[in-house]
Amino acid sequence: MKMTEQNKYRLLIGLIVLTILPLPFTSQISMQLFTSAPSLMLYASSVLGYLGIVLLLWMYVLGTKSVIGLYFRDMASVMKLHKWLGTYGVVFIFAHPIAAALAYGQNVILYTFVPNLSTSYEIYVTWGRFALYALLIVWLTSAIVRGAIVYRPWKYIHYVAYLALPFALIHIPTIGTAFGSEKGAKFYFFVATIVWVVFSLLRFRHLFMKGKLSYSIKSQQAATDEIMYLTLTPNQPERMSHFRGQFLYLQMNLLGEGHPFSILQQDQANGQLTVAYKKFGRFTKKLSRQPAGTTIFVDGPYGVFTEELVDYPATPVVYVAGGIGITPFVDHILTDTAEEQWLFYANRTNASGAFAGTLQAKLGDHFVPVLSNDASAQAEHGYMRAELFTKYLRDPHAYHYFLCGPAKMMEVTVLALLELNVPAEQIHTEEFTY
Ligand SMILES: Cc1cc2nc3c(=O)[nH]c(=O)nc-3n(C[C@H](O)[C@H](O)[C@H](O)COP(=O)(O)OP(=O)(O)OC[C@H]3O[C@@H](n4cnc5c(N)ncnc54)[C@H](O)[C@@H]3O)c2cc1C
Repeated sequence: MKMTEQNKYRLLIGLIVLTILPLPFTSQISMQLFTSAPSLMLYASSVLGYLGIVLLLWMYVLGTKSVIGLYFRDMASVMKLHKWLGTYGVVFIFAHPIAAALAYGQNVILYTFVPNLSTSYEIYVTWGRFALYALLIVWLTSAIVRGAIVYRPWKYIHYVAYLALPFALIHIPTIGTAFGSEKGAKFYFFVATIVWVVFSLLRFRHLFMKGKLSYSIKSQQAATDEIMYLTLTPNQPERMSHFRGQFLYLQMNLLGEGHPFSILQQDQANGQLTVAYKKFGRFTKKLSRQPAGTTIFVDGPYGVFTEELVDYPATPVVYVAGGIGITPFVDHILTDTAEEQWLFYANRTNASGAFAGTLQAKLGDHFVPVLSNDASAQAEHGYMRAELFTKYLRDPHAYHYFLCGPAKMMEVTVLALLELNVPAEQIHTEEFTY
């Protein structure tokens, strides 16, 4: 029986919980814990340290998309969990040295932050401090002030997180209070080390293209002023097998950045892939300058957006797209045989909507352009709102809604649909960012 993505996700949460449940028993529990504050603090420090490492390890594992993508297609949910573990799991690591400082009667700030290389014991404690510095930098920039930092500097800072786990693991065997006496603690340490090594090797392997397919640019054309239409030809007989609505990562060179784009179409006969992208920042502007014949590496497919339409091909469906958010819907609209499909297509002007002519030709009066900055065109004007759905649809409750576009448009549209009492499970969204 095919397991749904939701059930896989539940299983994953269950697994994470199972791995942390035995942690209180990895350190010795005795009556002393209830009578001596230092013993209690030492115990807490040990359990918090292991808890932090296990959650950090899960974060690392879930961030390995080359492996996780083999099992989960709903990468957005997994990435949310990865972020959540990063934000909250790390707090246990922060609490670990505080509890240790209190147990040893030391100044919390000095013990936690100031490196000390005076003895071999202190050197190992300092490895732990290095792990803490790395995590603190990543936590502050990712969880606290993420909005204030532009994407690329943030991304490079994020790589500092790779240092945290090895430093944290290195400092355990020599100074870990539980490691010396408890089999459970040793077990956790060795399993964590093995998992870290295996996943690091897998990440390294993926970096050097294992699991990615090589394509060449066949052509690039401007669909609008801002949107490019890119066709890629496979350089090997192997073809990508995908569901419509899925996305892939495009990479311009071996160690370059991978950026996600929805698959517009794939020609089954020759394996050619088409993608439409908006010239927006550094990567997409550089991509738009690449001539025919340039090699592009493709990683994927990922995602589960619009998957329901495969299981229920006759579902009456409403697509709501904003700008380049049209890409996951184009193939569905042009080739699906659903009894009833609508497109509410929000753009600034008539000219900025890619594929508008082709989509209108297929959908006729089920194509509803919504223009925010073009009073002259024959269209709905302004932004997405509840009244548009009641004006065009026979009964707004009868449809499944698929939304893709700018965050603000999606937020307003979801609120409008909920206002019309459309059940939440009939509203499906894809965000173009993690
Ligand atoms: C599932 C999914 C499907 C997408 N499909 C399309 C599509 O079909 N067409 C299209 O034009 N765009 C699509 N996007 C958005 C596209 O990936 C980004 O707009 C693009 O990577 C930005 O690159 P840039 O060079 O234009 O901007 P950059 O200067 O590189 O970055 C600008 C912003 O884009 C975002 N971004 C950059 N890199 C990534 C990354 N690796 N992952 C997620 N966000 C990133 C960040 O928020 C950043 O601030 C999709 C995104 C996702 C998550």
